[in-house]
Amino acid sequence: MESSTFTDLNLSRNLEKAIEELGFEEPTPIQAQAIPHILEGRDVIGQAQTGTGKTAAFGIPALEMVNPNSKKTQVLVLCPTRELANQVADELGKLAKYTGTRILPVYGGQSIERQIKGLRRGAQIVIGTPGRIMDHIERRTLDLSTVEMVVLDEADEMLDMGFREDIESILSSISMERQTILFSATMPAPIMKLTKNYQQNPVLVKTIHKVVTVPNMEQSYFELKHHMKPDVLCRMIDIYDVKSSLVFCNTKKMVDELVTTLKTRGYLADGLHGDMKQNQREKVMASFRNGEIETLVATDVAARGIDVENIEVVFNYDMPQDEESYVHRIGRTGRAGRQGVAFTFVTAKEIYKIKSIQKYTRTKIKCQKVPSRSDAEDFKASMLEKRLKETIAEGHLGKYVHWVEKIVDEDCTSMDVAAGLVKMMLAENR
Ligand code: AMP
Repeated sequence: MESSTFTDLNLSRNLEKAIEELGFEEPTPIQAQAIPHILEGRDVIGQAQTGTGKTAAFGIPALEMVNPNSKKTQVLVLCPTRELANQVADELGKLAKYTGTRILPVYGGQSIERQIKGLRRGAQIVIGTPGRIMDHIERRTLDLSTVEMVVLDEADEMLDMGFREDIESILSSISMERQTILFSATMPAPIMKLTKNYQQNPVLVKTIHKVVTVPNMEQSYFELKHHMKPDVLCRMIDIYDVKSSLVFCNTKKMVDELVTTLKTRGYLADGLHGDMKQNQREKVMASFRNGEIETLVATDVAARGIDVENIEVVFNYDMPQDEESYVHRIGRTGRAGRQGVAFTFVTAKEIYKIKSIQKYTRTKIKCQKVPSRSDAEDFKASMLEKRLKETIAEGHLGKYVHWVEKIVDEDCTSMDVAAGLVKMMLAENR
């Protein structure tokens, strides 16, 4: 049982609309496997790490099953840390934009009075750390008698942090009629024991790692913060003087945002995603083929059908969700006998994915230093110097020498003219 599109899931229109706005084009592998089972009411064990789309894998069905007519707490999500509780609350909040579901994160370190007020107002989905949830149960400020679904997120982390007793106590206080979902990156014995004692006939879903072969090519990655990505992309295009590149983003929204940024900065860029009409897509593709567009930004879905020769560089602007998708993406470069180049942008949380890709593709992805702004400028200057020397060596400068002579006077030496021209050239070169 697997769903290859969000439409297959028959979700409520309000939820579909929010997914659409978030720009998710298709379910990630873990979502495709887990969501149908959760919607069916089954207990599920999901083996997935952060970055695989696991939050929406339980968040989408959780939002779908909440009864909007009751303000009572219907879903409880347990998380190991306040950071994760907040992250989950944010992601669910975005998905709940049109369903109006009330979501409340509760964790240690935040004023308990404020949380009590929030709980009194009514929260249909409560997301909390086990310690603080216990605290609210003991104070009788959280009523779990109406909970129909419990999610243990990053269960292995919660056990490592010593929350086993709290978790067991919380689970024991919730009706056996409930649905229990457990997500964990690893499945050590204590996790298996937890699932055995607290889940009923669970389905195990996990992303299957296939060994995949990567074409011979140069692969590097850059560790950076999310907000640095547009600058670094532009620097790389400048430094390598890339005339034809494919840039992969994970969402339609990201494609649109990046295209706008690149166009504003003067790059010949356009985007391709699943929402575009066939004739629009064909127009963009034709411009990419004939070089009017140098940087094509696309989602995986949109790029699947395209066939362009001589793509110099593939950028994984967003880290792909699994190894197979990485291989599909980078396989688009280096055709026609030339070695291709692939650059992948990785945030600190995603480093494990690079390790996993290297393991399953049995290749080496080099870690490279993020080029600084001055590296990009130095590179441009040295390229200009090279071109200048070649032009001088070619000769036939008479006409131009005459022209420089006309500019030179008491206030302006030939050195000034040269310096002014270099400045203009570097500025023009972006
Ligand atoms: P998570 O594994 O839940 O931490 O999710 C990692 C990132 O993937 C989050 O920024 C999500 O918003 C994003 N994401 C979740 N589902 C999808 C999807 N189907 N397509 C694209 N991005 C997604």
